[in-house]
Amino acid sequence: MPGSSDTHEAYLAGCRRGELVFSRCAACRHAQLAAFRVCVACGTTELGTEVSAGNGTIASFTIVHRAPSDFFKARAPYALALVDLDEGFRAMMGVRGQPAIGERVTVAISGLGPAGEPLPEAWIEGERR
Ligand SMILES: [Zn+2]
Repeated sequence: MPGSSDTHEAYLAGCRRGELVFSRCAACRHAQLAAFRVCVACGTTELGTEVSAGNGTIASFTIVHRAPSDFFKARAPYALALVDLDEGFRAMMGVRGQPAIGERVTVAISGLGPAGEPLPEAWIEGERR
């Protein structure tokens, strides 16, 4: 089980394998995005990592028209959502399809970031073929 300083690396390695990796607190079992080095619920640094099944619900979203960089300007307008994964953590990601609050999504590592790194994207039911 990776230590706390390894959780973000585990997340990035998971993306390269096509898996959404998250952190699970060994003390209180809180689930959170793997970017944090401490449990945001109890403060311990005893974090392990798990692989999400990739099923979630859109908690909120926005349509970005004024993108923050040239890379994203080429994609605007695009949808950006907060997704509540079934394992109990929330993650922000792009959306394929027309999002709606409460809509079920499947997360796939199908996007690419500015440096060509693989990124999670939420796919609306029926959009992925
Ligand atoms: Zn905890």
